[in-house]
Amino acid sequence: MTIVRHRKTLDHISSYVPAKSLQQIENELGLERIIRLAANENTNGCSPKVKEAIAENYNKIFLYPDGFCTELRSELSKLYNIEENKLIFGNGSFELLSLVAQAFINPGEESIIPEPSFGWYKVVTLAMNGSIVSLPLKSHSIDLDEVKDSITDRTKIIWLCNPNNPTGTFFNSEDLERFLREIPSRIVVVLDEAYYEFVTNDEYPNSINFVEKYPNIIILRTFSKVYGLASLRVGYGIAHPELIDLLNKIRLPINVNATAQVAALASLKDIDFKNACIKNNILGKEYYYKAFEELNLEYIPTETNFIMVNVERDSIEVVNDVLKRGISLRAGAEFGMPTWLRITIGRPDENQLVIEKLKEVLDIV
Ligand SMILES: *Cc1c(COP(=O)(O)O)cnc(C)c1O
Repeated sequence: MTIVRHRKTLDHISSYVPAKSLQQIENELGLERIIRLAANENTNGCSPKVKEAIAENYNKIFLYPDGFCTELRSELSKLYNIEENKLIFGNGSFELLSLVAQAFINPGEESIIPEPSFGWYKVVTLAMNGSIVSLPLKSHSIDLDEVKDSITDRTKIIWLCNPNNPTGTFFNSEDLERFLREIPSRIVVVLDEAYYEFVTNDEYPNSINFVEKYPNIIILRTFSKVYGLASLRVGYGIAHPELIDLLNKIRLPINVNATAQVAALASLKDIDFKNACIKNNILGKEYYYKAFEELNLEYIPTETNFIMVNVERDSIEVVNDVLKRGISLRAGAEFGMPTWLRITIGRPDENQLVIEKLKEVLDIV
């Protein structure tokens, strides 16, 4: 392509590499069935009510979807007891992260990103000609005091993943409130709460309570994780209506498809399924904690549906060896943690298999 000249800023962006699809891995390795525990999907699937809802909607598929997500909006506003105009829906939270960057970052303005964290924050900042201020985690956690100390006159967005992907750690309500009080209100704070439903610690912030007082924050949640709808792409944001209005100006007018909307709505109504998944996750966590302690492997206690463990070996090699045995995990090397693995917590049989295969690969008896 020598004729069309792209924006120079694209040269600074390395392409985002999502986890490979199951089909891709199975084809590459010639394996029958791979258990995928690399992308924090819900291996329990989704609520059976989703199937009915999609079937019912099937004969309306020729119609454009509701660009306002009216029913889903109404249901979530009841669930959280917030006004409907504090909500925005996206094609996954990925889209909403992009919109936030597009709405706020002028060329040269800074994003503060505690790292390792979710990779997309960097890409969307660079795409807007913003610059990255990367801040290392402290004991695998976001230290809000350090984040505050990194603020400059050019800081525009602070991206906080809570609990943090990939480490599974969280910051508490008291620390968040003090942070919001002390930082300049001209800075947008993104609270990415993709794993919110899995948190069990009661010190975790109920961040919705801060939205009225702090119109510079936006909370992002998703149907991809506990609700098991990752393939359908629905995420949502909660913020002050003025911030929501800005994002709506540049949002694709019809960004969430109708199948996704009915599925999300049905899954919200199936509280039993959600609770069963949360319970499964708690048991899974306990299983892994115990197993890692027995194996004498260091791990990070987690508030999410994944867990990081230090195998004290090259994580890429270990991931490849485990993959040959039919399980796909994430190598910490991708996050600058070269001897760690990130393992999605699955069903009990899957978790047991992970430990069994890890023992084989690490040669522990
Ligand atoms: C999985 C994940 C998301 C992605 O959510 P989608 O709604 O599927 O786009 C966003 N943020 C973090 C931190 C995640 O781990």
